[in-house]
Amino acid sequence: MNQEEKITVPFLDLKAQFSLIKSEIEEKINSILATQLFALGPEVAALEEEIAAYCGSKYAIGVSSGTDGLLVSLMALELKPGETAITTPFTFFATAGVIARLQAKPLFCDIDEETLNLSPEKLHHLLKEMKKKTRTLKLRAIIPVHLYGQCADMDSILELAQSFDLAVVEDAAQAIGAEYPSRAGVKQAGTMGICGVLSFYPTKNLGGYGDGGMVLTNSQKLAQKIRRLRVHGEKKRYIYEFIGGNFRLDALQAGILRVKLRHLEKWQARRQDLASLYDRAFHESELIKRGIVRLPAAIYKNEKIKNYHTYHQYVIRVKKRDRLHLYLKENGVGTAIFYPRPLHLQKCFHYLGYKRGDFPVAEKAAQEVLALPIYPELTAEQIFYVVEKITAFFRR
Ligand SMILES: *Cc1c(COP(=O)(O)O)cnc(C)c1O
Repeated sequence: MNQEEKITVPFLDLKAQFSLIKSEIEEKINSILATQLFALGPEVAALEEEIAAYCGSKYAIGVSSGTDGLLVSLMALELKPGETAITTPFTFFATAGVIARLQAKPLFCDIDEETLNLSPEKLHHLLKEMKKKTRTLKLRAIIPVHLYGQCADMDSILELAQSFDLAVVEDAAQAIGAEYPSRAGVKQAGTMGICGVLSFYPTKNLGGYGDGGMVLTNSQKLAQKIRRLRVHGEKKRYIYEFIGGNFRLDALQAGILRVKLRHLEKWQARRQDLASLYDRAFHESELIKRGIVRLPAAIYKNEKIKNYHTYHQYVIRVKKRDRLHLYLKENGVGTAIFYPRPLHLQKCFHYLGYKRGDFPVAEKAAQEVLALPIYPELTAEQIFYVVEKITAFFRR
């Protein structure tokens, strides 16, 4: 190997981003330290306003994490023990975990082959089947996930939800700012259902320096209820109407997120540029033509919308995925697998009675997906290096 080939491409490099915004962040942290106000307060209220404006929702409620945002949303909708909520088996654990934590039943539905988001056709089929069993299965909600930063097909999902009288809670943890060309105009992830949930986990497109999340909604009633549930269900000081929890967002996180929000649009655009570079480099290799690599679908790209995909992850599909993953690691390229095992095959959900083969599209995706490095600070040179190494692997 010659000298100039010694490039490394970490899967994610948060230090690179921090070095660019260090002074802004330090200034903000010091100003919050001076107030000694750490739980909710003006910094959280300001972030809520800014996020609501950015996403185009009427209300935004800061919460302790994306997971807690999903949980408190379902609590506010009064999802009860024994009731059912539908979601995808190809998502981060929390999406289904919160359903089960309320003693409700996660009902999985397979995904679309191209986008890996909930398939409206399969959802329709499932709903028709379930309708016959409504006496035993009380269907209440659908939780679509906007996986990797691209919105699920919300028009179809909302239409089905309406005809079956179900609430839609969007898991927009990976998709802040992602736009969807709905029949009613362009809408953003998290603003189309009764509510939607963002995550500020450090690795997300807008990441804090610890945990955090936000619930978006256009319903004043729901917003008020979630605000109360976030502080144990407190209506007035020490007066409780329902049982909530401690789902507060820290002022320090809110302050840090406010600083980073100022950069978000630029970072989103950069992620799209990097995705285009990957696309181009892959097309220039023989890997696409030979059917070896499948690129991420960007199905809204032709619409005149800016954030058709926010590329929280740039995920290719390949055979021999695990060996490629290892080969890239040996060559200084970090990659990741979201997700290696679909939720219906997790031990903790064994009691739901699913088996291998129930959701073939999700199961196949779990074996083929590989997330490549994508973050605003990456260089074109690094992108080309990644594609070069993938090409070299399949040429061997
Ligand atoms: C990150 C994530 C969550 C959970 O968010 P946290 O802030 O980590 O609790 C939920 N759903 C999806 C799809 C996620 O990617």
